[in-house]
Amino acid sequence: MRTTVAIIGAGPAGLLLARLLDAAGIESVVLESHDRAYVERRQRAGILEHGTADALRAAGAGARMDREGLRHTGIELRFEGRRHRVDFPSLTGGRSVTVYAQTEVCKDLIALRFRGGGPLLFGAEALAVEDADTDAPRVRYRHEGRESVLHCAYVAGCDGYWGVSRAAVPAALSRTYERRYPYAWLGVLADAPPSHDELVYARHDRGFALLSMRSPTVSRLYLQVPESTRAADWSERAIWDELDLRLATDDGGRLARGPITATSVTPMRSHVHEPMRHGRLFLAGDAAHIVPPTGAKGLNLAVGDVVTLARALVAHHADGDPTGLDTYSATCLRRVWQAERFAYAMTAMLHRDPDATPFDDRLQLARLDRIATSRAAATDLAESYTGLPFDDEGARKGGTPEPR
Ligand SMILES: Cc1cc2nc3c(=O)[nH]c(=O)nc-3n(C[C@H](O)[C@H](O)[C@H](O)COP(=O)(O)OP(=O)(O)OC[C@H]3O[C@@H](n4cnc5c(N)ncnc54)[C@H](O)[C@@H]3O)c2cc1C
Repeated sequence: MRTTVAIIGAGPAGLLLARLLDAAGIESVVLESHDRAYVERRQRAGILEHGTADALRAAGAGARMDREGLRHTGIELRFEGRRHRVDFPSLTGGRSVTVYAQTEVCKDLIALRFRGGGPLLFGAEALAVEDADTDAPRVRYRHEGRESVLHCAYVAGCDGYWGVSRAAVPAALSRTYERRYPYAWLGVLADAPPSHDELVYARHDRGFALLSMRSPTVSRLYLQVPESTRAADWSERAIWDELDLRLATDDGGRLARGPITATSVTPMRSHVHEPMRHGRLFLAGDAAHIVPPTGAKGLNLAVGDVVTLARALVAHHADGDPTGLDTYSATCLRRVWQAERFAYAMTAMLHRDPDATPFDDRLQLARLDRIATSRAAATDLAESYTGLPFDDEGARKGGTPEPR
């Protein structure tokens, strides 16, 4: 098989890239190792930055999001029994976020692809990217029990942290930056109306808790747990009791409870692979970087990467202009590192490290108090949370193009 852009992975990165290329009239083939039901059911992110929502609209994938998504104009921080609301529009010149699950984003993009886009092969596992540093790269893959080769002009490695694309960048050219955290998130999905109308981030001596939602009738809640925790270690009742404790405020109130329909444990990791380009292979999304989920950045970074990549591929393919491809890695990495910084800062401010000293606890509370009392500190949080613009001007001027 032959195409212009081979896209490995049908997560948000691969699917949105495919859609943007379809819209620009550039051929692509998407290879996805799992089946459609798995991709559409996998519970993950749920907060879309302002720019992500705009990008989905511009791609023609925003209609259901605008109907069913929830626009949020702030978050609440809870600590020492106090509440403090961070108001996004007044701090950012009108920006907000949209609560709309990653599962729904993927469903919308898959439906669009099948309604007139190029091929999207489920159950097609990429085995290796070959000759990425030549003008004729190819992807070896297995589909329906047979091995085949996809010849292409460019490869987009959108296959997440566990994919094969990153391995095609020679070790001698790769740099990896990583931090692991000594705790994880126990996540639950519950058929219960959200107990607050915005997300609540709670710092508690027993550990972090997050109250979030997927819809007016479905709550998404998280508890910080030790790294080795298994979801089965927690009963439904223990989960609700612990959430009540950690989210408690001096003005009282308990969470609305309901049946828990899914549980999962997510390890916390920061990871960046540089560069994000090798020859004609471009890494995007989790294939290149992971953030701890505290800042709600993972999905949004994936979208930022592929918006930048699509622009660059269109400019190169249509006009022969290589500038966007040459600066792709530097452009994305500037944004990635800002998100890494923010996700790390939110994680460190809100989680209880098992080795924390009373001094560390005081510092956490001082950071939270600073946000509650300083407009400058609150603005930094609000700007980072609602998302930096998908603007590559800075990198064009200051970024060093990566070697081809
Ligand atoms: C449990 C969990 C909870 C999360 N919660 C949040 C959150 O609350 N907020 C947030 O912002 N982010 C969250 N994230 C992160 C967010 O979901 C990711 O950043 C986002 O999915 C990245 O999209 P992606 O397309 O780059 O990668 P993925 O969504 O991982 O998609 C990669 C795709 O590639 C496919 N693939 C892998 N290998 C191959 C191969 N060899 N051949 C073909 N296909 C392959 C995979 O099956 C997958 O469909 C969470 C992640 C996890 C794991």
